[in-house]
Amino acid sequence: MTTPTIELKPSSHPLSATERERILAGPGFGRYFTDHMVTIKWTEGRGWHDGELVPYGPLSLDPATNVLHYAQEIFEGLKAYRQPDGSVATFRPDANARRFQASARRLAMPELPVETFIEACDVLVQQDKDWVPAHGGEESLYLRPFMIATEVGLGVKPANEYLFVVIASPAGAYFAGGVKPVSIWLSENRVRAVPGGMGDAKTGGNYAASLLAQAEAAVHGCDQVAYLDAVEHKWVEELGGMNLYFVYGDKIVTPTLTGSLLAGVTRDSLLSVARDLGHEAEEARVSIDQWRTDTENGTLTEVFACGTAAVITPVGTVKSAGGEWTQSNGEPGKVTLKLREALLDIQRGVAEDRHGWMHPL
Ligand code: PMP
Repeated sequence: MTTPTIELKPSSHPLSATERERILAGPGFGRYFTDHMVTIKWTEGRGWHDGELVPYGPLSLDPATNVLHYAQEIFEGLKAYRQPDGSVATFRPDANARRFQASARRLAMPELPVETFIEACDVLVQQDKDWVPAHGGEESLYLRPFMIATEVGLGVKPANEYLFVVIASPAGAYFAGGVKPVSIWLSENRVRAVPGGMGDAKTGGNYAASLLAQAEAAVHGCDQVAYLDAVEHKWVEELGGMNLYFVYGDKIVTPTLTGSLLAGVTRDSLLSVARDLGHEAEEARVSIDQWRTDTENGTLTEVFACGTAAVITPVGTVKSAGGEWTQSNGEPGKVTLKLREALLDIQRGVAEDRHGWMHPL
C-alpha cells in the first residue's frame, strides 16, 4: 500500500501576527493551538489515504464511534525548536515515529510508516513555522500526533477505520522562575501498569488511570506520582509522565525497561549525552528501599525526572504513607543541571549534534 502525499488546504483566515505574538509571549503548555492540523485516514483494504493539511478545527464524530467507548487511541509528543540561524528543527521525530508504531501494535491498530509520521509533522511545522518561538530560551512548538479508531459501532474488536491527526501547540519554558525540584508522592496502593498490560504504549487509558493517584499526590502537597512495579510493589518504575534517573556521584542509573514503563525518548537520549560527557550511564532495577537508604547514607547524590515537556526536572522531596525524605537538600543537583543544559543545547542547535538527532525542516 502506498503512503499518501499530504495535500495542502491552508486556512484563509489564520490568526493575525499580533494575536499570535501575544500568545507566544506567554503560551503556557497545551493551551493554544496553531492555525492548522494534518489528518490522514486509514481504511481496511485501502490503507492510508486522504492525507491533508487543513485549518485547525473540531472533528465530527458519530456518538457510536469506537474510540469513545473502548479507547483505541495512541499519541505522541515531540518538539520543534528554533535554531540559531532562524530555521526550525524537530528533535528525534524518527524515535517518536517508531514508538508510535510500537503503541499501534499493542493496541491492534495499523502502523503508520515512519516516513509518513515525519512528513506529517514536517508539513504542519512548515505551514505554521511562525508559531515556533524565537531562538535562545527553552520555548518550543510541541507537536501532538495521535490516532483514533473511527469505525462506528459498539462491537468490541479492532476497528476497520482510523484517523491520524497532528496538532501543534506553542510551549513556554517549563520553569519560568528557574529550575525548581518537584516533590513526589510515592503511590503504594495504586499501580500505573501491569506486566503484559499497556504500560509501554503511549495510550490515553494509561493517563486516565493515573489521574486519581495524581489527585492523591496533590492532597499530600506533591507535584507528581512515582509508581512501583505492580507485582512486588518494590521496584521503582517511573512518574505519571516522566522517566526517572538516579545519580550516584559520576554515574547515572535509570530503571530498566520492564514492559510496564514507557521508553522515553529523553531517557534514551540522556544515556548517550551522559556518556558523551564522561559519565557512566546504565539501566538497572532500583528498589524503593534502595532509593531511601542511599539518599540517607549519601551515596545517591541526585534524582531527576525526564521527558519531552520539561526535558529534565530535579526531584526534591519524596513522600509516602511510611514517611518522607529529601534529595540534595531540596536543591537542583549539579549533574542534573549539567545534563539539562547539554541536552537543551543540542535541541537549541548551539551544541554539536553528534548523534544526528536534529531533523531540520
Ligand atoms: N513516561 C511517561 C508515562 C510519559 O508519558 C512520558 C512522556 N512522553 C515519558 C515517560 C517521557 O517520554 P519522552 O521522553 O519520550 O517524552
